[in-house]
Amino acid sequence: MSGPDLSAVFAREYPSLLRLYQDLHAHPELSGQEAWTSERVGNELEAAGFTMTRGVGGYGVVGVLTRGTGPVVMLRADMDGLPLKEETGLPYTSREKARDARGQEVDVMHACGHDLHMAALIGAARVLAACPDWSGTLVMVGQPSEETVSGAARMIADGLFSRFPRPDAAIALHVAPEIPAGTIGWREGIISAGGESLDIVVCGIGGHAAHPERARDPVVLAAQIILAFQTIVSREVPPGELGIITVASVHGGSKHNAIPDEVLLQVNIRYFRKEVRDLLLNAIKRVTEGIARSAGMAPPLFPRITLLPQSVPPMTNDPTLTRKVADTFIRCYGEDHVLHIEPVTGSEDFGVFGLVEPRIPICYFRIGCGDKKYTCGFLHSSRFAPPPEVIRDAAGALVVAAQAILDEAPPHSPGR
Ligand SMILES: [Zn+2]
Ligand SMILES: [Zn+2]
Repeated sequence: MSGPDLSAVFAREYPSLLRLYQDLHAHPELSGQEAWTSERVGNELEAAGFTMTRGVGGYGVVGVLTRGTGPVVMLRADMDGLPLKEETGLPYTSREKARDARGQEVDVMHACGHDLHMAALIGAARVLAACPDWSGTLVMVGQPSEETVSGAARMIADGLFSRFPRPDAAIALHVAPEIPAGTIGWREGIISAGGESLDIVVCGIGGHAAHPERARDPVVLAAQIILAFQTIVSREVPPGELGIITVASVHGGSKHNAIPDEVLLQVNIRYFRKEVRDLLLNAIKRVTEGIARSAGMAPPLFPRITLLPQSVPPMTNDPTLTRKVADTFIRCYGEDHVLHIEPVTGSEDFGVFGLVEPRIPICYFRIGCGDKKYTCGFLHSSRFAPPPEVIRDAAGALVVAAQAILDEAPPHSPGR
């Protein structure tokens, strides 16, 4: 994939962007702990000519560059890594460790490509700052805590859209191993799923394993509940609609011969439409309480269902903005390199930037980093290693997308 006029600039910048990428890759930080990363991103944006504000909504950084009048375009990269032990074998493999939210020491890895997103953002910042033919304002955002889907909301709460120029368009990308390298994937409307997490405490009455008749076994109840959940999607969600229920964690008991008082289920749901979300949550409550009631449980020993704050709505690309950006991609890269893609069941909190009132149009697209054999691995895998040349594709696509909007500046505006 090569942009029309920018290839010489990218060729010049690529070696230093590659070094930056490798440095970011080798030093990942967990969500909410991005102190070094945000400092690094802030310094790079500042060196490119942006006026920086640090500490926005935690470790968020915001860089502003205004040139005359015209549209305000926000470009965003996420900055956090994941608690995984890297097994890529790359020379710049991460050896970082950190304490997670529970105080446990964990290995840390950039297994979701956010290091590449940051390098691309900085590449785009350098190219756009050096490029004379646009008028308007660029707002570069380094966002913390994407993996906990909380960073976008925190930056908004800390005044992202009141203390800084309010965007006419907000743009972001994500690497995608399921799309061939050299290709961009785009979609108007919903592009990724909403997700919610629940804690369900299944209550019972503990006792000796030799006397189940004196206890109410919450392990058996939890097992029944987990199996009953499996028919919610297959029998209640209309065919063709996305609904996912995953019980990803089951915790109860501590010994072979002691029935515990409680079992904790950690549950995650995914959906594209709010009606399906409500259906799933109502059915989870009905099934859980129904099974508990059938076992003779009653308040206060009734299941406790808690919807956790780490939830994110489906991400919805603004159709007009997204088609405009996609048309520009097709003009620059050719139709074979620009794919109209299906929405994914993963979740992402960039969509939260598009939900403030009045609405800010958002466009989130995917940048291919894969091949037919998935040799770069999957997102969130300990072997995920996208080809570093994708930095050039990603930075180029951000520049092209920004120019698609900035070029609308009035032709006689000052600064042109
Ligand atoms: Zn991720
Ligand atoms: Zn990610």
